[in-house]
Amino acid sequence: MTGRARHLELPFTGPATFFKAEQRSLTSLAAGDFHVGVLGVPYDFAVGFRPGARFGPAAVRSATGRYAVGPAGYYDFESDAHRLVGAALVDAGDVDVAQLETGESLARVEAAAAALRAAVELPVFVGGDHSMSYPLLRAYGDVPRLHVVQLDAHLDYSAQRNATRYANSSPFRRAVEALPGLVKITTIGLRGVRADSEAFAAARARGHELVSARAVRADLAAVIERLPRGESVYLSVDVDALDAAELPGTGSPEPEGLTYGQVRDLVAATARRNRLVGVDLMELAPDLDPTGRSALLAARLLAETLVAWWEARGGGSQA
Ligand code: MN
Ligand code: MN
Repeated sequence: MTGRARHLELPFTGPATFFKAEQRSLTSLAAGDFHVGVLGVPYDFAVGFRPGARFGPAAVRSATGRYAVGPAGYYDFESDAHRLVGAALVDAGDVDVAQLETGESLARVEAAAAALRAAVELPVFVGGDHSMSYPLLRAYGDVPRLHVVQLDAHLDYSAQRNATRYANSSPFRRAVEALPGLVKITTIGLRGVRADSEAFAAARARGHELVSARAVRADLAAVIERLPRGESVYLSVDVDALDAAELPGTGSPEPEGLTYGQVRDLVAATARRNRLVGVDLMELAPDLDPTGRSALLAARLLAETLVAWWEARGGGSQA
């Protein structure tokens, strides 16, 4: 066993990088060096409620130590095969955000996302609050037919809230305004009281697919049939799509949410039916869950997302 493989054995040894992958600066990455690049976006200056998502990337780095992936991939006993074999991952560091200079932060995040997109097949972004999906999506402005699949308790499609246009309530409204190629958003997991009726009316008028958490509980297979098929999809996971009892470490938790298994199946189906062009995982606020289980669940969801994408891409599994 090589020294590198030994380093992958224990979840608690450092240095803490995403999945214990090599960490490289964005500027040093050449196209084709890695299949997957993971970038942290530690920004939570746009939350309307409880902050803390700025610590999401650091917590996910630490938690993904449990899911470090070596050359042999993950052994799956049900299929008696190894998954994610041969996938090369890199930790591309964090974006240096400019705190309260919103425009500057958005520009830096968009530039970093574009650089990562140029270097790897699947960019994965770890937030940060959900406002950051707007500058991340701006890096996909050249995709002619872009679909977004958003897992979220909230629609995040407000024209503005309290005279604020770049909060975490509005990223997808800003995105459709800025990206002519963004043809449709499918939002799954919606629930809660005190929703923005204008935002729902605008989303319905534009033909977005709006799916409640109740609909997922009633018939998951029917919801999977409402996912896009054969499209270029950007998958945006707000961890508050999950039930607050399973994942309490988030700024705006809502009861009656999705189970981990439902979210995992929706993510896997999205990857299987489409071509994933990017993934983000947002709104993990680790300090709101002192048990640490929220970060562990988020890390596991990222691991299973990578498995699903790799298999859909043709990476398959090796017995
Ligand atoms: Mn949400
Ligand atoms: Mn959200």
